[in-house]
Amino acid sequence: MTGLPDPLRVEPIIGTLDSTVRLPGSKSLTNRALITAALASGTSTLTGVGLSDDTEAMMGALRALGITSEVDGTTVVVHGRGGALDVPADELDANQSGTSARFLLPLLALAGSGTLTGHEQMRARPMGDLTTALRGLGAVIESDTLPITVASGITGGAVSIGAEVSSQFISALLLSAPAMPEGLHLTLVGTPVSQPYIDMTVSVMEAFGAAVTVAPGHIQVDGTGYDPQAYAIEPDASTATYPLAAAAIVGGRVTVTGLGSASLQGDAEFVTRVLEPMGTAVFVDDDSIEVRGSGLLDPLTVDLGDMSDTAPTFAALAAKARGESSVTGIGFIRTTKESDRVQASVDELSRLGIKSSVDADGFTVHGGQHQLAAVDTYEDHRMAMGMALVGLTGGPVEVNDPGCVAKTFPGYWDFLETLRAEARSTPLVLAIDGPAGSGKSTVAKLISTKLRLPHLDTGAMYRAVTYAVLQAGVSLDDHGAVSAAAEQATIVVGPSSVVIDDVDVTTAIREPDVTAAVSTVAAIAGVRVVLAESQRNWARARGAAVLEGRDIGTAVFPDATLKIYLDASVDERARRRAGETGDDDLEAMKAAIAERDRLDMSRETDPLTIAEGAEVIDTTLLTIDGVVDAIARSWSSRAGA
Ligand code: C5P
Repeated sequence: MTGLPDPLRVEPIIGTLDSTVRLPGSKSLTNRALITAALASGTSTLTGVGLSDDTEAMMGALRALGITSEVDGTTVVVHGRGGALDVPADELDANQSGTSARFLLPLLALAGSGTLTGHEQMRARPMGDLTTALRGLGAVIESDTLPITVASGITGGAVSIGAEVSSQFISALLLSAPAMPEGLHLTLVGTPVSQPYIDMTVSVMEAFGAAVTVAPGHIQVDGTGYDPQAYAIEPDASTATYPLAAAAIVGGRVTVTGLGSASLQGDAEFVTRVLEPMGTAVFVDDDSIEVRGSGLLDPLTVDLGDMSDTAPTFAALAAKARGESSVTGIGFIRTTKESDRVQASVDELSRLGIKSSVDADGFTVHGGQHQLAAVDTYEDHRMAMGMALVGLTGGPVEVNDPGCVAKTFPGYWDFLETLRAEARSTPLVLAIDGPAGSGKSTVAKLISTKLRLPHLDTGAMYRAVTYAVLQAGVSLDDHGAVSAAAEQATIVVGPSSVVIDDVDVTTAIREPDVTAAVSTVAAIAGVRVVLAESQRNWARARGAAVLEGRDIGTAVFPDATLKIYLDASVDERARRRAGETGDDDLEAMKAAIAERDRLDMSRETDPLTIAEGAEVIDTTLLTIDGVVDAIARSWSSRAGA
């Protein structure tokens, strides 16, 4: 690629991500569909194709085999010839593309003869299990690494293949099998690596009308050819790991469209198997994957044997995690991929000052602050795209030979800049204020689920501080001591728990003694300053959130995206609270609520009032669902704008 500085410096993104992206089509699916379309009996149209160096290599080689195609944007029309292939006049060139090299070799055997070569890096990658199997089918083949010359063709039959080095060998034989007059009976020797890729191959074959029967250790394909199809390629799930990991690392939201729970690509599970356990919120629909990160990552040990292309993405995440992370099950990628990504990840993270080491079948990383360095990329697109993620927070990194991303994602660097440009400097905040019993907590929880936004009950923070000072015997009149206690405390309010200084106080903070004292504590200016700042930081780290309390729209986030003030009559609020607490003295409850209202509304610092611009909703006579729907509608129009 021209015009890129080398090394290219990736600067941290300041703010929180907020992007919806459509990524280039899957390289794996594109190269599979190019083969099935080439062997089909007629013209197929592939849409959403991921055009890259790898797919160019495939299309060029197919042309040499007599299969013409036309490209228009991301649509490729392929004129299949029902399995008829020309003997190529020149060598076929797979360039650096592993799938092209592996998938094309059986095609060459079908054509009858010819030579397949590739880039120097590809010549070092293994082909042996495939050449052995092709010999078993009667092909005459000299070498076990590129360049490989095939001297006599194949017609199909039964053969065994080693399954433990690369699933691409199996996929290669399967893809060509419908064009073999005798069909193919494949016996798999050993446990297949990357099983999801074999499943993907079978899915594409079946979409083009092939008859495939899969049994443990065996796959039977009938020699009945392929039908031409209109076939839509999914966005690339391995590529999707970079922006989705970016949301986890930087914080904020990234949504990838066109990829979801129905995906044929095993790597689509990266979000549930890696990002979610590392502490990121993940939402997977039929047709989209959304990640909401906080920028804080938990360490993880995970077997990535069946999604090994994600190892460099994992390396970057592990470098950011708070602790020691390991990947296992990927020893086989040390020899089969563009580079030894195990050693390369460890070497480059070490260069960045991140402690890491090579293990028997993976690597271990101690997350921490990195230093500026130029990382080597080994002509390996995934190393470049993965290592770049480290520079998105905590300081820049430099990437040597950034143009190597063209192998699968020529637009990657522009894409990162788009994420940066779309990032928000201030969070989107849905502020819900109102007096006790107005329905804030119920509504806030429901709306946060509906809008997929994290939710903070700020009242729980005031209650936690109150609990702590009551426990410590601090006089509530000693404002300095109470403020100091608030400042020193570590409060974690989760979806269903409240913890202060490692003590779980979820139930204790709802006890009458805390409820009676909380408004007095909350009136202390020093306490409010500390808690408001921690609420702001909490929301900033999340990019978008629902916060409920008494002063969110007036003091904590006076510029909130949407402000709601919930209210209800004292009678109704007392009835609701009595229902919650089981207390049947309604008059006493009314008096207590009215007193808390009085204190909250009359205090000097940030009293409870209706914020400027707030939508006031009296919930006395409304259903909860009605309130939630109304707020969701207001939010969509404001947050969208
Ligand atoms: O919402 P909840 O009833 O749990 O809040 C308890 C108390 O915490 C309130 O009565 C009020 O005194 C205080 N509070 C506050 N500011 C907030 C949230 C709660 O002053 N943002």
